[in-house]
Amino acid sequence: FEENLSKAEAYLARFARDGVLNQIGGEAVPARDGATFESLSPVDLKPLATVARSTAADVDLAAKAAKAAFPAWAAMPGEARKKLLHRIADAIESRAEEIALVECMDTGQSLRFMSKAALRGAENFRFFADRAPAARDGQSLRGPGQVNMTTRVPIGPVGVITPWNTPFMLSTWKIAPALAAGCTVVHKPAEFSPLTARLLVEIAEEAGLPKGVWNLVNGFGEDAGKALTEHPDIRAIGFVGESRTGSQIMKQGADTLKRVHFELGGKNPVIVFADADLERAADAATFMIYSLNGERCTSSSRLLVEASIYEQFTAMVAERARRIRVGHPLDPETVVGPLIHPVHRKKVSDYLALGQAEGATLAAGDAAFEGPDGGCYVRPALFTGVDNHMRIAQEEIFGPVLVAIPFSDETEAVALANDVRYGLTGYLWTSDVTRAFRFTDQLEAGMIWVNSENVRHLPTPFGGVKSSGIGRDGGDWSFEFYMETKNIAFAT
Ligand code: NAD
Repeated sequence: FEENLSKAEAYLARFARDGVLNQIGGEAVPARDGATFESLSPVDLKPLATVARSTAADVDLAAKAAKAAFPAWAAMPGEARKKLLHRIADAIESRAEEIALVECMDTGQSLRFMSKAALRGAENFRFFADRAPAARDGQSLRGPGQVNMTTRVPIGPVGVITPWNTPFMLSTWKIAPALAAGCTVVHKPAEFSPLTARLLVEIAEEAGLPKGVWNLVNGFGEDAGKALTEHPDIRAIGFVGESRTGSQIMKQGADTLKRVHFELGGKNPVIVFADADLERAADAATFMIYSLNGERCTSSSRLLVEASIYEQFTAMVAERARRIRVGHPLDPETVVGPLIHPVHRKKVSDYLALGQAEGATLAAGDAAFEGPDGGCYVRPALFTGVDNHMRIAQEEIFGPVLVAIPFSDETEAVALANDVRYGLTGYLWTSDVTRAFRFTDQLEAGMIWVNSENVRHLPTPFGGVKSSGIGRDGGDWSFEFYMETKNIAFAT
């Protein structure tokens, strides 16, 4: 722990000294009007850096840089882009320790999970690098008196707007396919955790990415983010964040007819039948809500349990929740670190009070818990005796808070699972294969795991239904968003 801490301090010193600048056309620059805001560490609320607070004028410069860089980048052969993206992945791997330690101090996520974030970021780059050479491939279709050649072309400069929860990994997940497709990028990271986005663009340019292909503008959603979604040179917006922000972006982008791709919130059910492997199911349900501080779009935040095992199973999860170590994110023993920001901590603790006021029982957790150093700590919480109409069962809390609801049969379980506005993921636990087919067919979710926690396989589609999103990432689906399909008919 001490060694991690002193290494983190060394890596953070440059941010304290230089602040977090924008990157526009290959140059590190402050906001044009010199405005900044302060980024706090959730560990002790001490400032980590002053960050460029961009306005529409900065976004305009970044969009123009992305537009100027687009023709050459789009024309680069796929094989050359592949090599370059692999070089970025190599550079990410060589700075994995720095990325992980900075990310922990900026977000409050524990090192136990963040130590893998950089490696997953590199994997995202490698995955899309390998697909770059075939990105433009299409098909040929013969018609009467013609041969049609269908191909794909990159859509143009795109905006990428990311949230604060796992900023490094999510930025790579959105930006790598855009670059592989031949698009240039303006990235607006979340204001609560801007540090590793700065590292990432530096790494990419040091690896040889041409100037202006990837631009970074820091700042708040309501000014920098909004300006990006409204900019006429930006052809599409890849957005990860809250559902209500997605609605705003759709409105903001309407005048310029933006193509949008949304990965939004969730209130994901984990459904446990009495015939499941209960020990495995309890481990997985615990992991899926309390890992990454519960600040995870795919977290299983609603536990639906068959009534005959409800008492037994919720006791198993409560016992596991109580054992979870809450502490400093750099302590290797820590599972749950501080939440991102005092505002978010208050939101989560208000839900703990609300759940009790709504009549649910706090079977694990402590609404009065105060962690060390004034940090944004919350104990893993489990509510039992929950009714699906309660606000704690309907609203995305985005913290380590699980609500447990009993069901009497399969029909009721499906109805409860679908009775929310969200539909990102679902987790089903049963040993009855026929039931698993039947149930997953009816479950309203973009991604479902049967007898497993969330294990991502990058070629598979990632995304949600209902208020959880529009569009899919992963595999070839990312290229469908970042590219236009074009048909050319030759007369024969
Ligand atoms: P948020 O919507 O508040 O902010 C996300 C980003 O949008 C930030 O960069 C913010 O500055 C920007 N933004 C805010 N208002 C904007 C506007 N009007 N125009 C343009 N940009 C704007 O979300 P958050 O609180 O940072 O992140 C948490 C949310 O993200 C949760 O709802 C979570 O479920 C969701 N999330 C979803 C996924 C997924 O893959 N589905 C992954 C991670 C997080």
